[in-house]
Amino acid sequence: MHTLLSGKDVATDLLPSLQARALALKEKGITPTLATIRLGSRISDVRYEKSAQKRCEKAGIAFQPFVLPEGSSQNELLQTIRKVNQDLSIHGCLIFRPFPPDFDDALIRAALSPEKDVDGITDVSLAGLFTGTKTGYAPCTAAACMAILDHYRIPVQGKDVVIIGASLVIGRPVAMEFLKREATVSICHIRTRSVKAYTEKADIIVAAAGCRNLITADMVKPGQVILDVGINTTPDGDLCGDVDFTNVAPIVDAITPVPGGIGSVTTTILAQHVLDAAEGIPTV
Ligand code: NAD
Repeated sequence: MHTLLSGKDVATDLLPSLQARALALKEKGITPTLATIRLGSRISDVRYEKSAQKRCEKAGIAFQPFVLPEGSSQNELLQTIRKVNQDLSIHGCLIFRPFPPDFDDALIRAALSPEKDVDGITDVSLAGLFTGTKTGYAPCTAAACMAILDHYRIPVQGKDVVIIGASLVIGRPVAMEFLKREATVSICHIRTRSVKAYTEKADIIVAAAGCRNLITADMVKPGQVILDVGINTTPDGDLCGDVDFTNVAPIVDAITPVPGGIGSVTTTILAQHVLDAAEGIPTV
């Protein structure tokens, strides 16, 4: 019988500490505040913005969304980022990506003040994650994976971990988080010849490819822990992860569901980082 690693339970468990920290800041006259910057109305962005707002409101963090209409220019986006940088009442900022293909991703990421980079998109945050120095913040989804493992007291040190997905948003930062905890890490990606050759040997599998039914029953074994980061939709329009949950869950020891898994913890980590920023603590 597998353990369902419920992100909702982790988020509920962590909420009182967020509320206490927000209250302590307010007693000092500081209202912790998150800004979001969204260009257009991509469904996944709107959905994430809503859940970030809900989490912030529950925690006692103020929420200030900036929405640029579809078709806005890169300059308009940069101006909004500069406005957020200069606003002393805003402690953290989440910028929705990817940008339109003709925008310069590196230039836009670099425009955000590292001390407000609560989702770890700037090179300063990423460098801190890679070197282990305290500059900036870890990307929230990567940190959410570790928070779930910690909550369920799943040991990481010395374990064989395979991560499927090598993006800067999830795959690479989560690999660094596991390395920091002395796991042995493999990263698979679209050019990996046999993902199965890695998954069938691993103790922990992190599926972060954005590919429905990528991890099937023949790729896993008893005793494994699976973190399913993927967010996809079934032909019926329901949310699902990268793992064929129905057939894989009965085999492994523990698995996160989609929805209700990693995504539920990501906004909690975001709220934690806003509080860290308002308290003046970098967390990587
Ligand atoms: P991405 O497209 O930037 O990167 C995908 C990575 O997976 C790439 O490295 C690619 O090489 C690899 N990949 C794709 N198909 C593969 C295959 N068949 N076999 C092996 N490797 C393959 O995507 P991303 O931004 O890293 O997001 C990945 C998934 O995570 C998406 O489903 C996204 O919606 C989801 N996501 C979840 C959260 C959360 O909080 N749960 C947050 C952000 C993104």
